[in-house]
Amino acid sequence: MATFKEFRNNVKPNWCPGCGDFSIQAAIQRAAANVGLEPEGLAVISGIGCSGRISGYINAYGFHGIHGRVLPIAQGVKLANRELTVIASGGDGDGFAIGMGHTVHAIRRNLNVTYIVMDNQIYGLTKGQTSPRSAEGFKTKSTPEGSIETTLSPLEIALAAGATFVAQSFSSDLKQLTSLIEQGIKHEGFSLINVFSPCVTFNKINTYDWFKENIVNLEQFPDYDPTNRVVAMNKIMETNGMLTGLIYQNTTRKSYEDLITGFKPEALAKQDHMITPDEFQKL
Ligand code: SF4
Ligand code: MG
Repeated sequence: MATFKEFRNNVKPNWCPGCGDFSIQAAIQRAAANVGLEPEGLAVISGIGCSGRISGYINAYGFHGIHGRVLPIAQGVKLANRELTVIASGGDGDGFAIGMGHTVHAIRRNLNVTYIVMDNQIYGLTKGQTSPRSAEGFKTKSTPEGSIETTLSPLEIALAAGATFVAQSFSSDLKQLTSLIEQGIKHEGFSLINVFSPCVTFNKINTYDWFKENIVNLEQFPDYDPTNRVVAMNKIMETNGMLTGLIYQNTTRKSYEDLITGFKPEALAKQDHMITPDEFQKL
């Protein structure tokens, strides 16, 4: 069985010292080892942004995609080789602005992909512009008078879109984050894990200290039931989206792979050669 060190490669990340993305990379590597994966059994697909570099920093199959298109690529990889564990990763700008349409439809499609969003509430790679996750009043070069748009709530949107696994964590909480990624990988269906990942260079508001003061850890609520969608939605709204932990999981809904004709083990077992389009239609 591979150790987490075997998921490391010799590429040195060029994130700024202190960037939250380092811990997310470590959590993915630890979770992959903890669930018993081998590097050749994992594919990490990323988008554009500082976070997008992650696919180059993990010893596994990797694909650095284009802006906002992490999920079409990740779903394509999973459909082409369902033996692979597929992790998709990108930033809040990537997934919740240009890629939001894909995010919503990937959620409702429920393919077996784990989507980790590195949410720093700003555009970091392009040197600090307001993102859909920035707070109202947030001042950057793109909103010098302060943002006048409502902050997007990805957890509420995910639940409304029919998500079967919704979690949130903080890059500094390596234990919780690793555990949630493990649970996301094991979940039969699409898992969204939004991770607060401070941008120390451009976001001087949502700092490590700010997150520590504002995060509400679900551990505070021992009776919380993550299988109740209404309770989950209420809790997200009560905590202004600052909840961390496993917020919602539906284990009864089948994944896309379980439902799609021609994608079942018995159909694929018949294939001992490259399948033709005609044969595919008949599966
Ligand atoms: Fe991280 Fe921000 Fe530096 Fe990008 S600019 S590497 S998000 S700290
Ligand atoms: Mg960002």
